[in-house]
Amino acid sequence: MPPFLIQGMVAFFFGAIIGSFLNVWIVRTRAHMSLWGRSRCPTCQYVLRPRHLVPIVSWIVLRGRCVSCQRPIHVQYPLVELLSGCLCVIAWSRYPELVQGIGFVSFVFEFLFSISLLAFAVFDVRWRLLPLEWMIVAAIGFGVAAWAMGLSVMSIVLGVLVCGGFLGILSIISRGRWVGAGDPWLGTMIGAALGWPRAGFALYFAYVIGGVLMLLALAVHEIKRNQAIPFAPFLAGGALCALWFGPWIQLHLFR
Ligand SMILES: [Zn+2]
Repeated sequence: MPPFLIQGMVAFFFGAIIGSFLNVWIVRTRAHMSLWGRSRCPTCQYVLRPRHLVPIVSWIVLRGRCVSCQRPIHVQYPLVELLSGCLCVIAWSRYPELVQGIGFVSFVFEFLFSISLLAFAVFDVRWRLLPLEWMIVAAIGFGVAAWAMGLSVMSIVLGVLVCGGFLGILSIISRGRWVGAGDPWLGTMIGAALGWPRAGFALYFAYVIGGVLMLLALAVHEIKRNQAIPFAPFLAGGALCALWFGPWIQLHLFR
C-alpha cells in the first residue's frame, strides 16, 4: 500500500476518535454535565463498553440502537465521527509533511478550527442554540493563535469587525429573525481565526452556500417560507471554504 494512503487512513482514524470525544463534549455541554466519567446510554444509563465506542463502526454494527434498551442512538454520533475524520484528512493533505514537523502547528490550528465549526454547527442544527461562553473562549484562543502564527493584529481586528460586527448588526435590526443571537459570536470566532480578508470570504461563501441550498430546499418543498433555518452550518461551511481557498483567492483575484 502506498505510504500516503496509510498516512491518510491514520489521519482519518485519528480524526474519527477526536470526533467521538467531540460528540461527548457537544452532548454533555448541552446537558450541563461534567465532561468526565464513562459514557452511558442517555435513556437507560447502561455503561458503554469499549467495543461500543469504536468510531462509526459501533453505530453501524449496533444498527443505531442501544445494546441494552434498543432505543435509537442519535445519528449525530457516527456523522460527527465521519466528518471529523474527513476534516482531519483534509488538514493533513494540506500539510502532508507534518510528521517531519513541517506545518505541524498549522495542521493543529486548522484541524481544531474545523472541528470547532463542526461542533457549533451541530449545536445549532439540533437545538437552535449556540454555547456563548465556549464561542468567546474559542474566539480568543484562535485569535491569539492566529496572531502568534503571523496574522497582524489589524487583520484580526478587521476580521472580527466585519464578520462578527456585520452579523451582530443584522441580528439587532432583525431582532434575531434573520440571524440568531449566537451567530455574531460564531462570526467573531471566524473573524479572529481567519482575519481580514478571509473573514469576508467566509461571510460571502456562507451566504452563497445558504442561498443555493435554501432555493433547492424551497424548490423541492423541503422547507416552508418564513421557517427559521439554523445559520451556523452555513457560516461553518463558508469559513471552511475561506480557510481552504482563501489564500488562493487572495493570490489570484485580489492582486
Ligand atoms: Zn439504552
